[in-house]
Amino acid sequence: MKLSQRVGMIKPSPTLAVTAKAKALKARGVDVIGFGAGEPDFDTPVHIKDAAKKALDEGFTKYTPGSGADDLKQAIVEKFQRDNGLKYEPGQVIVSCGAKHSLYNLFQAILDPGDEVVIIAPYWVSYPDMALLAGAKPVLVQTSAKKGFRPDPKDLEKALSPKTKLVVLNSPSNPAGAGIPGEQLKEIASVLEPGDFWIVSDEIYEKIVYDGFQHISIASLGEKLFQKTIVVNGLSKSYSMTGWRIGYAAGDKDVVKAMSNIQDQSTSNPTSFAQKGAVAALNGGEDDLRKMVKEFGARRDWIVKALEEIPGVRCSNPEGAFYVFPDISVYLGKSFQGKKINNSTELSDYLLDQAKVAVVMGSAFGAEGFIRLSYATSMKNIQEGVKRIADALKKLE
Ligand SMILES: *Cc1c(COP(=O)(O)O)cnc(C)c1O
Repeated sequence: MKLSQRVGMIKPSPTLAVTAKAKALKARGVDVIGFGAGEPDFDTPVHIKDAAKKALDEGFTKYTPGSGADDLKQAIVEKFQRDNGLKYEPGQVIVSCGAKHSLYNLFQAILDPGDEVVIIAPYWVSYPDMALLAGAKPVLVQTSAKKGFRPDPKDLEKALSPKTKLVVLNSPSNPAGAGIPGEQLKEIASVLEPGDFWIVSDEIYEKIVYDGFQHISIASLGEKLFQKTIVVNGLSKSYSMTGWRIGYAAGDKDVVKAMSNIQDQSTSNPTSFAQKGAVAALNGGEDDLRKMVKEFGARRDWIVKALEEIPGVRCSNPEGAFYVFPDISVYLGKSFQGKKINNSTELSDYLLDQAKVAVVMGSAFGAEGFIRLSYATSMKNIQEGVKRIADALKKLE
């Protein structure tokens, strides 16, 4: 029996695939250093775990409202007001099984076949596939390492058409860690304000920023932008809660209602006691977060410098997230033992086979000639891993 046409259009998540491959090698006893992980290497803070345990002990183990429990929606409303200056009603908020799930619901709720979704490359792997699953067409806007992987407002303008239904923003970004500063965001905002389409702003890395970078939500740049933007965020990255699966979105009441209907007919509510943990996280201050960001910052400084010291490798200094996205294109076309390495996928395979280092090929994010390294691993691993990469690249001729 044939599978659906829909599923034939998408591919497995390459980032999850790399992580799985590295884990499988490790399980066989191979000493692999993983730069693939898209998750913090810190444990979930204790007060968050305690809140979930308490919820379990108190029997908070039943269905909650499909779009999330009232106390969590209230905590999210307060978070948006406190951190982003955004005023939402609880009815404009949906809690989902991760930010990814909120994004999926959104794409399903607003896109029809023939619609275009403008996506900035390099992009988070799921955006194009989510557009395809909704029958829509991804339209890519390329950026360059030279401009810090930030979109040129003019390029963004050129990508818009009467078919544009959604524009996806992600600052700081995955995979490049690119953060759009206020001035440039205002230019982008004036390009995006007039058109008849939605904006989704994926702000999951808003708090993982360095050197005083200030995240600003495009939804806060005026009433019209507030109306047309759906802000997506989640607990996974800021609170080391990837496995808890709690994310959320806020925006236009009708859009959020449509997303809730989709969620009601597919997953129902996110896990009840995980929601209690999320309330504790959002209301619990940022001490743990600050410690984590400080450590990430030190690792970022080290890895950017070390990568830049490898002959031919160029690495921009990211404003946020926990990834670096170096340009390794000088090594493409070179060979190892007579076998030519043609692209970033083959280079990633080479690094895994020969150097026992897992990285993700740039092509997965729409940027050939680059690789992504997550520095959500110990400084010791980072130092050993970068040394292995440098040695392996030296062997190419
Ligand atoms: C990790 C990530 C997400 C999804 O996070 P959840 O675990 O589903 O909350 C969404 N967007 C980007 C850019 C990410 O890196």
